[in-house]
Formats: sequence, structure tokens, C-alpha cells
Amino acid sequence: MNDENAPYLKKFIRDVPDFPKKGIVFKDITPLLKDRGAFNMMAESIAVSYEDAGITHVAVIESRGFLLGSAIASQLGVGVIPIRKKGKLPWKVHQASYELEYGTDVVEVHQDAAGPGDRVLIVDDVIATGGTAKAACELIEKLGAKVAGVALLIELSFLKGREKLPGRDVQALIKY
Ligand code: AMP
Repeated sequence: MNDENAPYLKKFIRDVPDFPKKGIVFKDITPLLKDRGAFNMMAESIAVSYEDAGITHVAVIESRGFLLGSAIASQLGVGVIPIRKKGKLPWKVHQASYELEYGTDVVEVHQDAAGPGDRVLIVDDVIATGGTAKAACELIEKLGAKVAGVALLIELSFLKGREKLPGRDVQALIKY
């Protein structure tokens, strides 16, 4: 990833203390989303790492992963695969359960979203405890596809989320 741009982009991440509950410092990316320069820089700075990785699809995690991952997929010239919370996808799904920094949940992917021979890049806004990213990896592998990497805008390093993803290529542009 183009780390040179990280200090500039960090200025567009707003810390919101005690959201959605006490003790959580929420990383609000809406200032970055609304700024065309920062938004494009985000997509380019992340996509550059995967230009020669043979990525066939970007899997985007609901909901802020949709926003970032779609722009990254567009940079890479590939399509997107939505990974959604339970009950939102209309067709046949695979499921994986995960723990959030603040609760537990289930994510789903359509059974025809990808398959053997596909190389999927997973994108989300934040990695905290790593549970969501781990569940997303499991879903992609249930499809028979390969997880080519996990790309995050923000890594909360003190929560050690990447320890849940041993042996995987996990890259984050901005680290706290
Ligand atoms: P985790 O599964 O613990 O790695 O949590 C990652 C997921 O929860 C991502 O989809 C994030 O959007 C969200 N999340 C967790 N912690 C935060 C935080 N401090 N600020 C913003 N989003 C967060």
C-alpha cells in the first residue's frame, strides 16, 4: 500500500468516543468519503498493492466495506461480491459467525458469488478484533475460491486482529 499517503488520509478519520457504546472509540470515515481527493487517494493507495496479484473480485463487507471496496474494485477493474449480515441476501447463502468488538453476528455470501480459480481480495474499513475479517475469509473459502488478501483502511493494532488471520496477507493503510 502507498503508506506515504497515510498521514494525509488520517486527517479525514474522525474519532467518536463512546459510539455505539461506552468505551468504544468509533473511527468515523465519513469525512474521507465526502472529500473527492481523499476518497480517490484512498482507493489508489490501497489498489496499488494488488495490481499484479491476479485479483478476480473484491469481496466487500457490509456496510462501510461496500463504500471503500467498490472504489478499490473499480481501480482494479474487477467486480464486487457483497458479504452481508444475516437475512439480507435474497438467494442461497453460505454463513459464518463472528464476534465483533461490540457483540456477535452472522455474515452471509451468495453460493454462486465466486468459485474455484477465483482470487478474491476482501475489503473492510476497520479491523478491530479480526473476527469479521476471519468470517469473511471462511465464506470465500466455502465458495472454493482463494483469499488473495485482506485489505483494510484502518487497523486498530492494539486489538491484535491480525493474529486471527495467520498466514494471510493482511494489509492496512492507516494504523493506530
Ligand atoms: P472486528 O470483527 O472486531 O475486527 O470488527 C471489525 C468490524 O466492526 C468492521 O466491519 C468495522 O466496521 C467495525 N468496527 C469495529 N470496531 C470499530 C471502530 N472502533 N470504529 C469503527 N468501526 C469499527
